[in-house]
Amino acid sequence: MAKRSKFVKPEHREFIRTRVLASKQISPNFVRVTVGGEELRGFTPLGFDQWFRMFVPQAGASALRLPSATSNLWYAQYLAMSKGSRPVVRNYTVRAYRAADRALHGDTPELDVDFVCHGADAHGDAGPASTWATGVAPGDEMALLDEGLIYHPAPTAGWQLLVGDESALPAIAGILGSAAPTLRAEVFLEVPHADDAQELGEPAGVRVHWLVRGDSPARPGVLALETVRAAQWPDAPSYAFVAGESDLATGVRRHLVSDRGVAKADIAFTGFWRFGKSAP
Ligand SMILES: Cc1cc2nc3c(=O)[nH]c(=O)nc-3n(C[C@H](O)[C@H](O)[C@H](O)COP(=O)(O)OP(=O)(O)OC[C@H]3O[C@@H](n4cnc5c(N)ncnc54)[C@H](O)[C@@H]3O)c2cc1C
Repeated sequence: MAKRSKFVKPEHREFIRTRVLASKQISPNFVRVTVGGEELRGFTPLGFDQWFRMFVPQAGASALRLPSATSNLWYAQYLAMSKGSRPVVRNYTVRAYRAADRALHGDTPELDVDFVCHGADAHGDAGPASTWATGVAPGDEMALLDEGLIYHPAPTAGWQLLVGDESALPAIAGILGSAAPTLRAEVFLEVPHADDAQELGEPAGVRVHWLVRGDSPARPGVLALETVRAAQWPDAPSYAFVAGESDLATGVRRHLVSDRGVAKADIAFTGFWRFGKSAP
């Protein structure tokens, strides 16, 4: 039997240029940016945790320059650009996609992205992507390159464990919004503030635990890791999706493998960012 692929990759992909249509502070630590444009007609929404490489101009740059290759060669082309003319590249999740006939801001497709606005206050350091998101204006350029899904359980999976910090809230919200109504899952979502919690529209068999970090000086992800370690379940999850600060992702994976006997192949774990380090 053919081996199941670990991820879901897009069948076809290209750089898609979009323009900012709107932005809104939706909670204390999140800004929702809506982009749209004709080229988004070429985007195939997959739901779940679909993620993409986001390209925006460096602060002060007049235009958005992009590599031409969409195979993995794009990165070599990117490195060959002079440092001053390269775009900023970061990874983000599709929070919502609306086809042209459901668009809220015009008559082309639209895509919402929820950005953690870290560094805007006492919450961590700022970075070029969070700074871009908190300062965008309608008409600003953003391009994306689809990367598909990380979440990919076997269709036969029993109960699932989904764990993340705020950077993974859009991914986990997307998973719950796309999941079958029969999904059984325990969800642990760590957020900085109680008002950062969102309506997730989860199926009836899903229990969502919001873990509020509050003003505690603890590093993001520690609360979620400790809570998962202490949780009592009658049996181990048959699939786990863990994303967020790198130590959270690796810590939960280690715990599931060593203490709960979960097979490595049944855990999708991804460091979405690293504490104190800019994305490479
Ligand atoms: C597949 C995937 C999907 C993702 N989806 C989303 C998404 O939908 N929304 C989202 O907000 N993020 C998402 N992320 C995380 C996002 O890519 C990183 O947070 C990224 O580092 C932000 O870039 P930046 O330029 O703002 O900061 P960087 O230049 O990368 O980092 C600057 C400083 O900010 C700190 N920092 C970075 N991110 C955070 C954070 N979230 N909280 C606190 N401090 C931080 C770093 O440790 C560093 O000290 C995703 C990551 C991956 C891999």
